[in-house]
Amino acid sequence: MIRLSLVAPPGGGKGTQSEKICEVLKIPHISTGDIFRAIVKGTYKGSFPVDQILEFMNKGLLIPDDIVVKIVIERLGQDDCKNGFLLDGFPRTLNQAELFDRHASHLKLNKVVQIDVNEENLMKRLTGRRTCPQCGKIYNIYYTPPKENSKCDVDGIVLTQRNDDNEETVKQRMEVYKKETSPLIDHYSKQGILFKVNGEQGVDLVFKDIMEVLKSA
Ligand code: AMP
Repeated sequence: MIRLSLVAPPGGGKGTQSEKICEVLKIPHISTGDIFRAIVKGTYKGSFPVDQILEFMNKGLLIPDDIVVKIVIERLGQDDCKNGFLLDGFPRTLNQAELFDRHASHLKLNKVVQIDVNEENLMKRLTGRRTCPQCGKIYNIYYTPPKENSKCDVDGIVLTQRNDDNEETVKQRMEVYKKETSPLIDHYSKQGILFKVNGEQGVDLVFKDIMEVLKSA
């Protein structure tokens, strides 16, 4: 059974690759960013400090570890995760990794894929990102624009931009990644479960490499 997490800087392609992997492996895609966006929208059930969460997200800061770990463990306890899962955006700090292993040792990750990307391209990847609010399809106005300006190719709905995909917040998110999240690479390397792929290729090639490391490992 696969218990996988993807590690990459903001804009590194975690969301796009997660969707493809989950479709093939038939496991649920658990994105903590998506969960927090749903909490803010009011579509994820439970009692959460919504104002606090929104403030952290809009500033490009991480939501406190205890809140995140509790939500993730609860979510992974649901039925659809019993044959494996893919975590996108969790853990984001060493403390989250440790708390998770301590409180949910039966859910311990057995594979972590690092998508290695060049920092210089990340700003355009993020500030150019647009999403269809209906079907969730992700575009980039510089690299993968929709056929008709600002509208989804699938359903014609006007695309939206995430609140935290502006230049200032992106800079902050990158700082947070370097300081808080990149130490996880070493952490999982030491455990022998980290696999690195080159994220500077087209989406399909990155996906092919990920599937190869998952098969061989
Ligand atoms: P993402 O969609 O993964 O880029 O996440 C968007 C935002 O959600 C982040 O900038 C954080 O504010 C919050 N977030 C998502 N995952 C985590 C996590 N594991 N720990 C703390 N904050 C998170």
